[in-house]
Amino acid sequence: MRISFLGGISEIGGNKVLLEHNGFRILLDFGKSFKNESKFFMRPYLAPFSISDLIKLDLIPNFPGTYKWQEGEPSIDGVLVSHAHLDHYGYVPLLKPEIPIYMGETSKIIIKARQDARTSSWERKVHIESIRTFRTGSRLEIGPFQVDPIHVDHSIPGSYAFLIEAGGKRVVYTGDFRFHGQISQLSRDFVEKAQDFEPDLMIIEGTRVAPESDPEEAMIRLLEQHNIYQSLTRPPLRVKKEAENEEGVLDEMKAVAEIAENSLILIEANTTDIDRLRTVWLLSKHLGRQLIIGETQALILKRLLEEDPRIKNLPRIGDFLLYLSRRRREDSWEEVKEGRRRPAIRDLISMIEDQCGPEAVIWGENRRRVAKEPSSFVILTPNSPSTLMGILPESGERFPITFILSRSEPFNEELAMSFDRLLNWLAYLGVRKYYRIHVSGHVKPEELGTVISEINPEKVIPIHTSYPELFEEYLPPALRKNISLVSLNETLEL
Ligand SMILES: [Zn+2]
Repeated sequence: MRISFLGGISEIGGNKVLLEHNGFRILLDFGKSFKNESKFFMRPYLAPFSISDLIKLDLIPNFPGTYKWQEGEPSIDGVLVSHAHLDHYGYVPLLKPEIPIYMGETSKIIIKARQDARTSSWERKVHIESIRTFRTGSRLEIGPFQVDPIHVDHSIPGSYAFLIEAGGKRVVYTGDFRFHGQISQLSRDFVEKAQDFEPDLMIIEGTRVAPESDPEEAMIRLLEQHNIYQSLTRPPLRVKKEAENEEGVLDEMKAVAEIAENSLILIEANTTDIDRLRTVWLLSKHLGRQLIIGETQALILKRLLEEDPRIKNLPRIGDFLLYLSRRRREDSWEEVKEGRRRPAIRDLISMIEDQCGPEAVIWGENRRRVAKEPSSFVILTPNSPSTLMGILPESGERFPITFILSRSEPFNEELAMSFDRLLNWLAYLGVRKYYRIHVSGHVKPEELGTVISEINPEKVIPIHTSYPELFEEYLPPALRKNISLVSLNETLEL
């Protein structure tokens, strides 16, 4: 088996690993690197015009005949997507529709719901018909490759690791995983299966291996410094609350809410982080406040519950209020409910209005409710500045806000820019301090040694980390000789 590392080397995200055997070629993830893209592009003003722009800039590999609208036979036989984070599947939309994309059932639901919620451009739209789904226990046969997907716990539901065998060689690919989430048993199941598999090679994520133990923390500090430089004022002070696991996040949020009194509780988290949605739902029930969530998250939630109605502790229709992003008429400032919203969102709005009445949808006049009685609500949003603009009274009148930054994923550049603006918005609204409460979606560095010794592969290659050279520091001395560091585009023969 030949293995080429085409992305995710010395960087967090952008995973792309090519496996070749007997003339067959499959990819493990086909992720976008926000860091590399933002070196050249800033959407919408400076966007790639075509796929060939991306190839020229070495942002995607040159696979002849493989990308949309290219001539010739595709040179890739399939892509295995570990989970629905863009740094793992972000370039899948560029592929020809005849190339099969394998992913878990839940990843498909999330990707489809996101696409149904808003219009996406040519670079963002996955061809849904190309998706073939699997579950734990299904075995995939792609040419000579036998693939067993095994569930893991991560900050998005439906995440998988892969056990791959071809030509008598065995490879384990972890994707992103952790042991401190709400369903850590999934990751333990994976370790057990991988152990029995006796792999020759394990490609393992090392997001949190860094000189400073929390790369996300370091990024936020940098952004705060930038904000000070830019606005010449002190940004709102960040109060960090340590949580060990998702239950800890809930406890810390409860403690912060105790002193929130008459303020609006505004929590920023990723739309697809369903564990965090569950935590915030439990928080709002505990406080007797109403939960408000956005359109995309509500659609993802509805579809996940349709797929598996037994999922516990998630709000059902009627348990939350739906927050609509603002739309207006073409020729006036008047806000409209439908605007150019996608059919799936229009259906969701009517469904919620039919079942719960017009007050359940926060738009237009209804937005005032929030500013009038801030202490009755908890808002969960991926984009606080635009949510804030929507609820701020026209008079510019302020109301108290307790802000909790609760993203679990490392910031990418798009988010970083909005974070900078967020600090300005918070400062404008008189927020003097805010809280950082989260747990990472990724395995703790100090657990890497245990995972590796339990699975006991011949060879280990760290991926999805900015500091592969520090990886060995977390391993017992006897295991260090098994670590191999590869450079970008390097190929090795197994
Ligand atoms: Zn991820």
